[in-house]
Amino acid sequence: MITAITGSGFGDEGKGKITDFLAEKADIAVRFQGGANAGHTIINDFGRFVLRLLPSGVFHHNVENMIASGVAFDADIFFSELEMLKEKGVKAPKILVSSRAQLLLPVHKLQDKLEEERLGKNKFGSTLSGIWPFYSDKFARRNIQISELYSENLKSIAGRFCEDKNICFKAFYGIENAVSYPDLLNYLYDLKARLSPYLCDCPYYMNEAIKEGKEILLESQLGSLRDIENGIYPYVTSSSPLAGFGSVSAGIPPYEIQSVVSVVKAYNTSVGEGPLVGELFGSAADTLRRRGGDQGEFGANTGRPRRMAWFDCVSTRYGCMLQGATEIALTNLDVLGYLDRIPVCVSYHTNGKITKNFPQTYLLRDAQPVYEYLNGWHCDISGCSQYNELPEAAKDYIRFIEDQIGVPVSIISVGPKRNQTIFRHSGVGNKL
Ligand code: GDP
Repeated sequence: MITAITGSGFGDEGKGKITDFLAEKADIAVRFQGGANAGHTIINDFGRFVLRLLPSGVFHHNVENMIASGVAFDADIFFSELEMLKEKGVKAPKILVSSRAQLLLPVHKLQDKLEEERLGKNKFGSTLSGIWPFYSDKFARRNIQISELYSENLKSIAGRFCEDKNICFKAFYGIENAVSYPDLLNYLYDLKARLSPYLCDCPYYMNEAIKEGKEILLESQLGSLRDIENGIYPYVTSSSPLAGFGSVSAGIPPYEIQSVVSVVKAYNTSVGEGPLVGELFGSAADTLRRRGGDQGEFGANTGRPRRMAWFDCVSTRYGCMLQGATEIALTNLDVLGYLDRIPVCVSYHTNGKITKNFPQTYLLRDAQPVYEYLNGWHCDISGCSQYNELPEAAKDYIRFIEDQIGVPVSIISVGPKRNQTIFRHSGVGNKL
């Protein structure tokens, strides 16, 4: 069976925790999209980790961890994460890298930084990980695919890349020879030797695994609202975090993804630029931010304070629809235990109308949240291990979300640790 684990918000929903948890019963965990621009926080017996590129199955020695073709492959981060796992005493994981993935090179990161500087006050709030330059070079068909490291034409492929980047850097940033051809070749030759033990032909590997009936998890980063096609364009990432893209990136048939677990936070957060309907400020935001996540709501990778809002049914329903969610993993429910009553945004007031549909980005700026208020449970639920142990008000909160979104909540996360997870219904957690 193939299960996609994706986010239905702006990212940071807790996909890493849920993937690490579900990977216990999986054979293959596939990271299918984005690059090292976000971090998946995982807290388990080995410690606390923020994985940027490696799939979140790396802590289970039985799991094969695949980096699929659609990932922006930053080899420097890849090797540093493997080293970090070793230092923290994690047994060397089984890793496979698609030879069809393309290389995110140091020059992509340099371009990301120079472009944010050029844009000044109009900047995107990029994490400077080189993601958009990587994807734009992919669509311009100038990136270097990992397989090309082994081609006899590598020198000419690298030469063309170098020439194109240098023309672009001179025109946009007035910098001559930003990429040195000899340095680039040395870098590529070094990678050629170091990467070869990990490489595989991802589509064949994955289709064979399907035939063998393996349990496969597809893990994305960020969330639906940052999808390049359907998100809050232009404040989106440069790839697609949707489950559908998992099939493209791993080279497998879309109908093989039978289960889509949409990870959803019990409140709403966003990091970076772009509209956030019902954004909280002042003490309401500070309190929620301080209590959220495992160390407060600060970017796992960047440390930036996350912008805060109450649970948003409008954006979550849209996000789940885009994912094709078959079930929801609701995380951070424990965080709300301090509230007497909990606002939930059920519709937006925008353009003179009330809507339950997520508007186009330009209408979001002025959209006002319409709240319903639910009773708080006013206690610590982080020790609950069964659904029945949850207070009635917490169950009401879950049911309310379920009704509003129209997707069953099958996993409830009541803390950042692996074991602070509750299964409900016959969701994927019980099926795996
Ligand atoms: P991801 O990128 O979707 O994996 O999410 P991040 O790692 O960026 O952010 C999720 C944050 O929530 C991290 O700090 C996690 O440790 C934390 N977290 C995940 N689930 C829970 C939960 O149920 N309760 C609490 N308090 N923290 C959680």
